[in-house]
Amino acid sequence: MLKSTRRLSTAVDRRSAFTLIELMICIAIIGILAAMAIPNFQRSREEARQKKCWEFSSLLTRTSELYYIDQKVYAKDPKDLAPYLSSNVLPVCPTHGSYIWIPGTETGEPAGQKIFCTIHSYATGTWGN
Ligand SMILES: [Zn+2]
Repeated sequence: MLKSTRRLSTAVDRRSAFTLIELMICIAIIGILAAMAIPNFQRSREEARQKKCWEFSSLLTRTSELYYIDQKVYAKDPKDLAPYLSSNVLPVCPTHGSYIWIPGTETGEPAGQKIFCTIHSYATGTWGN
């Protein structure tokens, strides 16, 4: 009696367990799905960083205009804009680029300035006068 019960439970265990081939197929499928998904995640992450960089560049441009309205001259250095930001801290490019000033605007006016990210090459500009 006991012997037949043990045989029955072993047979049930073998039927419900994965074989090595089934396990390897599952791992291969998960690997293929991960190989397709990970590049998309990385691309989306970089696109989000680029949008954030453009947003920061645009913020610095608008802050530069506020500085101009207040001081009647454009800021010589982006650090001069820090007191005009709510947190008193300049935004930093999410990919660790730095923002630099370039004289002139898209329309060629020499009085304006462009704020340029060294990594993303985004430039937003002031209008000048
Ligand atoms: Zn950037």
